[in-house]
Amino acid sequence: MSDLARNGSTSRSPRVAIIGAGMSGLCMGIKLRQAGMYDFVIYEKADRVGGTWRENTYPGLSCDVPSRSYAFSFEPNPDWSTMFPGGPEIFEYFDRVADKYGLRRHIRFGETVHGGTWEDGRWTVRTTSGEERFDFFVSGAGILHRWRMPDIPGLDTFAGPKWHSAAWDHSVPLEDKRVGLVGTGSTGVQITTALSGNVGHLDVFQRTPQWVLPLPNHRSSRATRELLRRVPPINRLAHRAWLAYLEQSFGVGVIRPGWRRSLLQGACRQHLRLVGDPELRRRLTPDYQPMCKRIVMNYGFYQAIQHPQTTLVDTPIERVEAQGIRTTDGVLHELDVLALATGFDGTAYGRPLELVGEGGLTLDEAWRDGPRGYLTVALPAFPNYFALVGPHSPFGNHSVMAISEAQTDFVMGWLERFRTGQIDAVAPTAQATDRFNEAMDRAMPDTVWVTGCKSWYMNDRGQPVLWPWTPARHREMLATAPMADFVVD
Ligand code: NAP
Repeated sequence: MSDLARNGSTSRSPRVAIIGAGMSGLCMGIKLRQAGMYDFVIYEKADRVGGTWRENTYPGLSCDVPSRSYAFSFEPNPDWSTMFPGGPEIFEYFDRVADKYGLRRHIRFGETVHGGTWEDGRWTVRTTSGEERFDFFVSGAGILHRWRMPDIPGLDTFAGPKWHSAAWDHSVPLEDKRVGLVGTGSTGVQITTALSGNVGHLDVFQRTPQWVLPLPNHRSSRATRELLRRVPPINRLAHRAWLAYLEQSFGVGVIRPGWRRSLLQGACRQHLRLVGDPELRRRLTPDYQPMCKRIVMNYGFYQAIQHPQTTLVDTPIERVEAQGIRTTDGVLHELDVLALATGFDGTAYGRPLELVGEGGLTLDEAWRDGPRGYLTVALPAFPNYFALVGPHSPFGNHSVMAISEAQTDFVMGWLERFRTGQIDAVAPTAQATDRFNEAMDRAMPDTVWVTGCKSWYMNDRGQPVLWPWTPARHREMLATAPMADFVVD
């Protein structure tokens, strides 16, 4: 029996702590307010909302998911200027949403969450300002927030300015500079496209070639935007239609072989033909299947890499020196500025977060063999803790916004049960979590991610921490999770 039932009351409001005012944290806050639950705090380490879209400001930053599907379902944006809008436009969307849904009064800017401990049936949350008690603890910390600096010898000896792509220094003018860019993932490709021809010289250091899916960035006409703004049902329909299209094409193509995969892979191979010089094309051709690594979606990269002021360097890097990068063939590539688009730790999932669950179990201990959970959002022995976009979320085959929203609805279901006194605490059972993870392991061999490449999708044991089924199945499983899979108090 819950505390509420014992007291004879009929309703109570859960006290909820949320980490991060990025896309997931904002979504959680909105759903709480819509449900009339106002007792929550969103802790945000920075001074603005927006998460990824606040932090990343590198040249060429843009979305590579079609914009019509990159919005909350309850707030489709009629005003996207293009199919793949730039970072500032996406940041403005989240900033606007935070105002529209009255979230600012709940956000504590400049306050970092260090961890939390489950004690006496509640969470004690520790932040830079002290400790506070909550009924529920929800992480919206996201996946790609811990930068990966390359372990290249001599990196600290470089004489000029250098930075990671997530901390771009806009105070350094680049127009006449020799710029070195390390990394050709989604970020490196966008930066190459933006800088090529606009700096003195650009050296692009490629360790592994990437397949690039050609996605033209069509403008949304003024008439289209006006129509979507004036007729909300069409705006909502456009949002749903793009999500469905994404699910049915890419969402299925990556998880099982078939015509969708062949079509997408064919498009990547065809795209590479834009490189006229056969030798350069050979150097840009990956030796693994398209989409095995996180696919890069871009339309200007191959033109950019062929620009006379741009050089592809694919000889391995030996070390960084004061004057530039020396490759293993002995050549010193002299540089004024060094930009590192070397990615993020894709297995951090909110860490370093010192989480202590039942019996003193820490998150690091629970994840000794890699991040895992129940249905991508909950963890055994961590009652009333939920991680939005947690391990194995379908971000490898769907729009992360839709994923986060489905997970938020799942969390809201438990908050509602708490409000009405059906539960005080809930956590998935270890058995249900094992069953879920074993089923995923069995499905993984069909996916393109295990066809022979290295990527940030993989855990230390070389297994992708991704969702091997359709995005629809993710929503369905969250919506129909059996009560027998949970321990409730
Ligand atoms: P990434 O995909 O992990 O790429 C990192 C790049 O750096 C790779 O080319 C890697 O080479 C290279 N690298 C790493 N360490 C190196 C070293 N020591 N020496 C030489 N090269 C090294 O990182 P990312 O490009 O930042 O993208 C991460 C993810 O962010 C993407 O997959 C995507 O999910 C997301 N993203 C999204 C958008 C968007 O528009 N929505 C834009 C940018 C990023 P190897 O391949 O050999 O490891």
